[in-house]
Amino acid sequence: MLIVMKPQASEEDVRRVCQKIEAMGYRAHSMPGAQRTAIGITGNKGALEPAEFETLPGVAEAIRVSKPYKLVSREVKAEDSLVRVGTGENQVTFGGEELAIIAGPCAVESREQAFAAAERVRKAGARLFRGGAFKPRTSPYSFQGLGEEGLEILAEVRRKFGLLIVTETIDPENCDLVEQYADVLQVGARNMQNFSLLKRVGRSAKPVLLKRGMSATLEEFLMAAEYILSEGNYNVILCERGVRTFADHTRNTLDLSVIPAVKRLSHLPIIVDPSHGTGRRDKVIPLSRAAVAVGADGLIVEVHPQPDQALSDGHQSLHPEEFESLMEQISAIAGVLGRTLGRPATPGDRSNPVVPAASE
Ligand code: PEP
Ligand code: MN
Repeated sequence: MLIVMKPQASEEDVRRVCQKIEAMGYRAHSMPGAQRTAIGITGNKGALEPAEFETLPGVAEAIRVSKPYKLVSREVKAEDSLVRVGTGENQVTFGGEELAIIAGPCAVESREQAFAAAERVRKAGARLFRGGAFKPRTSPYSFQGLGEEGLEILAEVRRKFGLLIVTETIDPENCDLVEQYADVLQVGARNMQNFSLLKRVGRSAKPVLLKRGMSATLEEFLMAAEYILSEGNYNVILCERGVRTFADHTRNTLDLSVIPAVKRLSHLPIIVDPSHGTGRRDKVIPLSRAAVAVGADGLIVEVHPQPDQALSDGHQSLHPEEFESLMEQISAIAGVLGRTLGRPATPGDRSNPVVPAASE
């Protein structure tokens, strides 16, 4: 059920409706919009009676939400959601006019490797840095990540290069540690239906990057996001990263048609991962161009200073100069669509106090 308030409803009217919902034992999710506030109700097992709410002051109407997902649905919130990461001049917004670009290695391997990658991706215009400290690997014998040492290195990257940090959390207990370091908590494809992890990140104050499971339908993907919003965290960024098909010319099949499909059904921003989405370096730039053209709100791209030496996913990681070329190319496409790549201030620029000089 969704309670739509009148445009002139007061804060007190909204509070009264929320109190009534909570008193009935359900959860109220107040969603202020440009025109009016809507209040989503979750936790009810059966259908609710609209008249119970329509008689309250300030209520325009109470409507049943037809989709199985509620809070992520455009029925509940018509306008696009903006997910803001970081603060001040360093803030990056997902879902607005600007494209948000996340780049960096698959895994943090050493301070030298992370710094070399960070320097190059930042110079090319990325505002956010990716790198796993905890890696969910198919084989237990593969490199599992540096753990907390990797998180410390990521914190140094943030300080030294002014980049915001996107890193993966692999289970609810691990989240206690990762959220102390991350600006964005990544939930990986293999964990898209790890419901206890979804509930845990739903209680976090940090934005969440939710990757689509490799065999997840659109409805399952949106239901996974619904888990996070239903716990009170509305800052969710969706990510298409390819699904399993019979195709053997790529590691996964990057389902770019899901972008307009998500945009129609949900107000949440969605970005594309062309690295895991193709698994082949030579396909990353073409699919990045396509992702921007189809309406993605950003990209997450693997870049390694020496891909041939990488401890994971080297074959799909771009060389830094290839990433520079990618940025040039998507910048041109973004312009055609009326979007921009928000370039960061140069490190050391004294007009921007949050970006320290590279030598500091
Ligand atoms: C990753 O981003 O390095 C990763 C493991 O991605 P995914 O969960 O999409 O496989
Ligand atoms: Mn990877």
